[in-house]
Amino acid sequence: MRSNSLQGIEALQVAPGCSAAFIEGLNLFKEELTASHSLTSRRYSIWSLVRKHLDQPFQAVLEGYAGAWERRLVGGCLLSEMGCRRPAWRVKYSVVQSPGKAFDEVRFELLSTKQRGDRPQSALLADWQLANLRRWDSNLRFVIRMAQDASDDPFGVECLHFTGTLDTVRLLLVWLSYCRPARSVHPDYDGRLADAKAREHSTTYCELCWRQTMRSSAFACLRTERFAGESDSEWEARRDLELMAKRLPTASWRRWSNRFCRQHDPRDPGSRYRADLPYKEAFRHEVEALTVRRRSNYVLRFPLPRGADQQEVRKAAYDLVHSGLRPLGAAEPGLREKVVLMAREGLSQAEMARRLGISRQAVSKAMKSFSRLMSVRSSEAYIDPTSGEVSISDEQLALIHAMELQGATVADIARAAGLFPHTVKAFKSGS
Ligand SMILES: [Zn+2]
Repeated sequence: MRSNSLQGIEALQVAPGCSAAFIEGLNLFKEELTASHSLTSRRYSIWSLVRKHLDQPFQAVLEGYAGAWERRLVGGCLLSEMGCRRPAWRVKYSVVQSPGKAFDEVRFELLSTKQRGDRPQSALLADWQLANLRRWDSNLRFVIRMAQDASDDPFGVECLHFTGTLDTVRLLLVWLSYCRPARSVHPDYDGRLADAKAREHSTTYCELCWRQTMRSSAFACLRTERFAGESDSEWEARRDLELMAKRLPTASWRRWSNRFCRQHDPRDPGSRYRADLPYKEAFRHEVEALTVRRRSNYVLRFPLPRGADQQEVRKAAYDLVHSGLRPLGAAEPGLREKVVLMAREGLSQAEMARRLGISRQAVSKAMKSFSRLMSVRSSEAYIDPTSGEVSISDEQLALIHAMELQGATVADIARAAGLFPHTVKAFKSGS
C-alpha cells in the first residue's frame, strides 16, 4: 500500500542560512525515499531514513551554536525521535492586560510536560505522531525567536546558520506530516482500515443546519479529550481518557451519521429532521450565495457578522430561510419586503400606504416586524465555539423553561425572549 510520501518532496524547501551538512543529508534522504515510506511503516520507516541522514547534522548544529538559546525546548531529543516522543517542556503564553498601556503584554513561561509518556491506547499511531510533530514545531519556533532576541547580530552568519537549520527542520516536519500510512489500525476497531476512514476527519456540517455532523462532532470530542494531554498532571490525563472511553462505546463511531447532526437525526422520530427537510434546498442555495457568490433568492437578507466562520455563515443562511421572509418568485411577495424596499428609496409611510392601498398602521406594523427580525438576528449572529450553539443568556433560558411550564406557545416564548422560534425549539427541555 502506498502512502503519500514522494508527493511534493521536490517542493520541500531549505531556509536561508541552513547548514550545508544538513542540506546534504536532506538530499540523501530524498534520494532514498520511496512511495512505500510512511510515518508508521516498520519496513519502510521514514524515521529510519531521518536517523540515517539527518540526526547527526542536526545535532552538530545544535551543539555548535555558541549563542544563547533555550535548550530545554529542543535539546535532549533526536530529530528521528520527534514523532514518537513529546517534548519534555512546552511554552505557555499568557496575555497580560496592563491598564494605561497601548498594548497588552505577552508573557511566557516554560512548563514541564511531565509525561514523556507513551501513546494513549486510544490514539491512532499516526495521529499521535502528528500531534507530537505539532508540539515540536511550536517549540522550534520559540527557540528560533529566543535565539534571535538574544543575539547581537540576529542576521549574522552564525545566528542565521542556527535559525536557518531550525527553520528547515520545521519545513521538514510539515512535509512529514503528510506522510500518513495508507492503512491504519483504529483503536476502536480491531482490523485494518483505510487511512481515510481511520483518521480524524475534517469537519463536516449537517445538511440542514450549521451544526457539525454526528460523526464530525464525535471526532472533535475525541480530539480534544485525547490531547487534553497538554494537561499537566497524570491524573488529569487519566480522567480525560476515562471520559473518552465512556463516550465511545466500541466501534459505535462507525454508525454515526456523516450527513446530519443530532438535532436532525433522521432515525430519531423526535428530531427536527422532518420539519426542516422542506428547507434543505433553499438552505443549501443560500449557503452557496453567501460563500461562492451565487445569487441569493432573497430580496432582504441578514448581514454576516464580522469575521464570520463557517458555522456562522451557515447559521445566517439557516436563520434567513426560517425567518418567514419571502424568496424571489414566491407566489405572493411579502409585505415586509415591499415596505422595506420602498423605505430604502426614501418614501414616507403615508406614501407607501397610498401606493400599497393599505393603512398607515399596517405599513408601520410591517416596518416594526422587520426591525424586530433584524434585532433578533443580530443577537443570534454569533456561535459559541465551545458548544456550537447560539449563546443565550441564563435569563433567556430560565424564561424559556418557565413559559414552557405555563404552556405558552413557541411563538409567544420567542417574542418574550427576543429569540427565533427555531432557537427556542432547540433549547426547550424536550429537545
Ligand atoms: Zn442539523
